[in-house]
Amino acid sequence: MSIYIGCHLSVTDGYEAMGKTMVDFGGNTFAFFTRNPRGGKSKELQPDDVSALLSLLERERFGPLVAHGSYTMNLCAANEQTRENGLDMLRGDLLRMEQIPGNMYNFHPGAHVGQGIETGILLIAGALNEFLKPDMHTTVLLETMAGKGTEIGGRFEELREIIDRVDLPGKVGVCLDTCHVWDAGYDLAGDLDGVLGEFDRVIGLERLFALHFNDSKNECGSHKDRHEKLGEGKIGAEALRRIALHPALQGLPFILETPNDNVGYIREIHTVQDWFS
Ligand code: FE
Ligand code: FE
Ligand code: ZN
Repeated sequence: MSIYIGCHLSVTDGYEAMGKTMVDFGGNTFAFFTRNPRGGKSKELQPDDVSALLSLLERERFGPLVAHGSYTMNLCAANEQTRENGLDMLRGDLLRMEQIPGNMYNFHPGAHVGQGIETGILLIAGALNEFLKPDMHTTVLLETMAGKGTEIGGRFEELREIIDRVDLPGKVGVCLDTCHVWDAGYDLAGDLDGVLGEFDRVIGLERLFALHFNDSKNECGSHKDRHEKLGEGKIGAEALRRIALHPALQGLPFILETPNDNVGYIREIHTVQDWFS
């Protein structure tokens, strides 16, 4: 048994550079922002850089990459300009993802900012229906959220409702963030089988394509969304180990979004790999 494990990397030095960095870190997948995390302009992809990354991914037998949409993208914003900006980002990001076919694009469903969950869900599904195409080579992932404020996606049911309203459900999946799910009130430490069973019942485990692998600074149900280093938070090392080794989660990419520097990421990547040896 082995695992696809990696962390979030900066795209500043280009695509191949991220691949090389992850090889140096000892991992075999990674995440990156498709644009500046605070929004704004996305760097144009250089064809040579992209093809260099694609051959590295194949040569090093990487698992699928999990790109992350901008935090500022809110497809269900009440403000029309904010919503339009989000639609522009989604369209641009999905076009760019086609240059690295076969990978995933994960995003935060959005915050309904008082419009209500139902309206939010309709707006998110509507946005996806505008830009998902039958011939695209990217799987779009809705991230499970902590349920902070008016965030949508803190309940599995909300993600299911979005997927139910998408015309091309085959292009959509879910990325499970362990910190978020825990903060949302799902007890990953005390009842992992129960939580995964609930995920399967409500969404379907076949729709789970990736994990964000984080510990949490806060208690289960806190709705805070503050990530912690593996084993230093409230979920704890033992529970995280059981998650990584769970039979239902084998073969999926695990992305660390823990508060670490490079040395810390390298250490966590090796810690997780050691669980498999
Ligand atoms: Fe995220
Ligand atoms: Fe996350
Ligand atoms: Zn988070």
